Amino acid sequence: MTIHCHPELERSPIQTAARLLADAKRLLVLGGAGLSADAGVPTFRGEGGYWRSVRSEDLASRDGFDKAPEMVWDWYRERRLTVANAQPHAGQRALSLLQRHTQGTILVATTNEDDLLERAGVTDVVHLHGDLFTTRCAADCGWAARDDQDNALSLASCPACGAKVRPGSIWFGEPLPREALDRIAAFDPDGLLLVGSSCLVKPVSDLPLDLVNHGCPVVEINPEATPISDYVAVSLRGTAKQMLPALVDLLTSCTVRDQARRIT
Ligand SMILES: [Zn+2]
Repeated sequence: MTIHCHPELERSPIQTAARLLADAKRLLVLGGAGLSADAGVPTFRGEGGYWRSVRSEDLASRDGFDKAPEMVWDWYRERRLTVANAQPHAGQRALSLLQRHTQGTILVATTNEDDLLERAGVTDVVHLHGDLFTTRCAADCGWAARDDQDNALSLASCPACGAKVRPGSIWFGEPLPREALDRIAAFDPDGLLLVGSSCLVKPVSDLPLDLVNHGCPVVEINPEATPISDYVAVSLRGTAKQMLPALVDLLTSCTVRDQARRIT
């Protein structure tokens, strides 16, 4: 097999992406709906987000919960079951490898509420839209607990204050969790890999252009063009499952010399 070395024109997009990202000391990977969709977890935001003819906005919202908490919980229990029966795919497992076998530091953040990244071995995942398997107090008294066995907690009242309990997901109209945003800010990334994300959620949506403007490498993996495709250094047109294993393979080449041979 011929390995294309120096000429810029002969480098494939994925090699170019790897060469750029290899320079990042603190690489942020931001996964969107496309990352989980590859594992068979349906996205519910945007087009087609219906369940039993109810719009997802009417389920994943404070108004919806106040009007029909049982129905909202039925939906979330079904989502928990769907996720529990899904398996992490090769792209998610590749992110775990990247975290363990690269020279820089990798922080993985996601707008998915599922636990597939953790089950793939990714550590310290930042959940920007909350956690599907947490049940917490709907009156915000601060009580919260993991509820991933049999949904038992979802059927009870808050043990601390007696109010209703709700899923740990972030609903439409709610701000992103401060702690998650603070962790990204403290990480201070100098490179960004967007995976299956259209990056429309404020304030995270400002991050790609901020980094581009500071001369940091930004790469996206997405089967379709996104609002920031024109600004990023490389757009890899494909799904997370198709693209991530090959990209991570280049980024985790055993030796610096091997890496240099393959991507420079
Ligand atoms: Zn409470």
